[in-house]
Amino acid sequence: MRQLIIVGSGPAGYTAAIYAARASLAPLVVASSVEAGGELMNTTDVENFPGFPEGVTGPELMAKLQAQAERFGAEVLYDDAVELDIEGEVKRVRVGSGDVHEAAALVFATGSAPRKLGLAGEQRLAGHGVSYCATCDGFFFRDRVIAVVGGGDSALEEATFLTKFASKVYVIHRRDELRGSRIMQDRAFANEKIEFLWNSEVVDVVGEDAVTGVVLGDTRDGSRRDLPLDGVFVAIGNDPRTHLVHGKLELTVDGTVRVASPSSRTSVPGVFAAGDVVDPTYRQAVTAAASGTVAALDVEHFLAAQGQPDRDASSAMLVTGVTS
Ligand code: NAP
Repeated sequence: MRQLIIVGSGPAGYTAAIYAARASLAPLVVASSVEAGGELMNTTDVENFPGFPEGVTGPELMAKLQAQAERFGAEVLYDDAVELDIEGEVKRVRVGSGDVHEAAALVFATGSAPRKLGLAGEQRLAGHGVSYCATCDGFFFRDRVIAVVGGGDSALEEATFLTKFASKVYVIHRRDELRGSRIMQDRAFANEKIEFLWNSEVVDVVGEDAVTGVVLGDTRDGSRRDLPLDGVFVAIGNDPRTHLVHGKLELTVDGTVRVASPSSRTSVPGVFAAGDVVDPTYRQAVTAAASGTVAALDVEHFLAAQGQPDRDASSAMLVTGVTS
């Protein structure tokens, strides 16, 4: 049986893989069937990851982390974890192909997913003018008028990036003060294509087959007005991806996986969690990477305490077709 399976391939998953692989645990990283690398694959420049004074793109950083993990013996599986059986001593991960992988320990590092506004028009027009990823879809809005919803770093980063394409970018924020960092604020304020719409919330997204505008509500007096637009980018934060462990791992009131902080131990022995899925507060690439390190070290201690016999036994036990 394999020593360790890591579910997730963001900075937490890959960093856990680097440490675990260097400790000869030959981890399997279940990295997604669509795009390995997590949320940073949808980011442009990462300017605050230590060691890259000139900045690095999200995809480039993730490719480096993956290469570093593989260099030491981590195996990356391009498939999705679809079901976890984690209660017993053997942790089982069923993936999209139907294969079931088994290990003595599991690191859960599934990150977070973009939060939705929760509007019917938003859902109906997703992919038809409503987007959650500027780097993925910005190109389609050349010379168009668009809006970004949100007041955090994500919204400011996306708005700034989108000015490369759009003729005008509104930033719609529900308060009159931004949550994003000073440097991102200054950059956005200095950009002539960006206009801030303060104390405003999107109460409807309108359009037949594609977005033609939004209805804005004034958060102070409730008055409404129409704003014609060609596209809406929603950047109002992320929610932890915990659907695989509902009813299996304890969660916090924030919806993140509960860990025995500062460790990565979850409510189930042998299951550890790291990255955005445990962190409602900091949510940085570097803090996710750090918590991946913690998880790998916790796994090492756990396996040592279990007296796992052969640390170099990297051969996986693959049970094909077993549904757990
Ligand atoms: P965030 O900091 O939680 O900001 C979310 C923003 O969306 C807030 O301004 C919030 O308004 C607004 N919002 C939340 N729910 C809303 C709703 N239902 N309707 C309208 N507005 C809503 O999330 P984030 O911007 O994704 O950033 C998350 C973390 O990643 C932060 O720690 C951030 O620093 C980091 N990050 C860093 C960078 C960078 O350094 N380059 C880039 C992106 C993200 P309120 O302010 O009123 O709560």
